[in-house]
Amino acid sequence: MRKSNSNYLILLLFTILIGSCKEKSNSTDSKTETEEELVQRALEIHKRVLTLDTHADTPLRMIEPGFDMAERHDPNETGSKVDYPRMKEGDLDAIFFAAFVAQDIRDDDGNSRAKTLCLQMIDSVIASTERNSNIVGLALNPGDAYALEKEGKRAIYIGIENGYPIGNDLSNVEEYFNKGVRYITLVHSSNNDLADSATDENGAEHGGISEFGSKVVGEMNRLGIMVDVSHGNDSVFYDAIKLSKAPIIASHSNARAVTKHQRNMTDEMLQLMAENGGVVQLTMLADYLREAPPNAARDSAVAALRANMKPISEMTDEERSALRTSFQELNQKFPNPPATVEHVADHIDHIVKVAGIDHVGIGCDFDGGGGIEGVFDASEVMNITIELVRRGYTEEQIEKIWGGNLIRVFKEVQAIADEIQAKASST
Ligand SMILES: [Zn+2]
Repeated sequence: MRKSNSNYLILLLFTILIGSCKEKSNSTDSKTETEEELVQRALEIHKRVLTLDTHADTPLRMIEPGFDMAERHDPNETGSKVDYPRMKEGDLDAIFFAAFVAQDIRDDDGNSRAKTLCLQMIDSVIASTERNSNIVGLALNPGDAYALEKEGKRAIYIGIENGYPIGNDLSNVEEYFNKGVRYITLVHSSNNDLADSATDENGAEHGGISEFGSKVVGEMNRLGIMVDVSHGNDSVFYDAIKLSKAPIIASHSNARAVTKHQRNMTDEMLQLMAENGGVVQLTMLADYLREAPPNAARDSAVAALRANMKPISEMTDEERSALRTSFQELNQKFPNPPATVEHVADHIDHIVKVAGIDHVGIGCDFDGGGGIEGVFDASEVMNITIELVRRGYTEEQIEKIWGGNLIRVFKEVQAIADEIQAKASST
């Protein structure tokens, strides 16, 4: 049996199991629709709409010697969540591969190492699209995703997660733009020179976005790079809304009213995001999707593991695989309740209620910790569409969630950059 058929059967079984557990809530003409027909209808919608995932840390895998994006990997064996065959299986049309550099020392040496690593990851994405030009293409503009989809190819966009590789040099922003970078997440899990993180142990340092960070936002507006506030603390969000001349994005963040986590966005932030015209991209990280009951034994085991951990980007293959095994063992010993596609849809329902259908999208964070029951890797993303169809979302709404909204913001960001540049050249 072909892999895609067996996947489809597993998926069908999964959705039938879930479907039998809950009341049908959709009020469409589904009175006579069987579960199998609903799944079929959802899969057709999934095929027709542009499906765009705004966040994957796959470049971390792409710089591993011997890692081949054209090969199918087993996520349970290798930990890998994205490759081109699985994007095709999941009917994932487009993706932003984020060059992620973990926060390290903020001095000239640290900044220069960060830049070297960032460029290495960007170059590996470009090289991979060139090597596999029969199945994927490098995408630079909003329209490219649709053009490549028509050719039957996956669209590969590039982002940067963590502004650390900009260092203190504003001209780096343009260098990254010229390489193809179309969004930058200002900060990651610790503060940097641009902005405060939502999760820095030492708390805020700049009170949001720093003076240098403000200049970076201005430069991103001028060039047409989307400003990404995921990982920033709440002040970073409010500062970005004020500073940015273009709508902003959260490339992988969820709703705090549904799951209390400082990385998630409050209702007030969601409403402001709507006024701003921006978009919040839902992410598949279990801790941001559901609240796990307190588990002190697990917490101290995780802390002990983390205490001896060096940055993933600096690990050898053996060290990475040992770390994976340790985490697998830890999860078996101290299991947390799984996050499911229903949690994802709960967050989408909430954001739609608070911010409206035009301000929500999907950014799975595969290869960066993302992956839940039912949406474990890129081959399973259609399960999100099935759950949305089950809840009564129309094709038009699903099209917005799966890419339409993000593309709208992307176009606006470019239009504003054109205006800024036209104004500058006329004066
Ligand atoms: Zn992240």
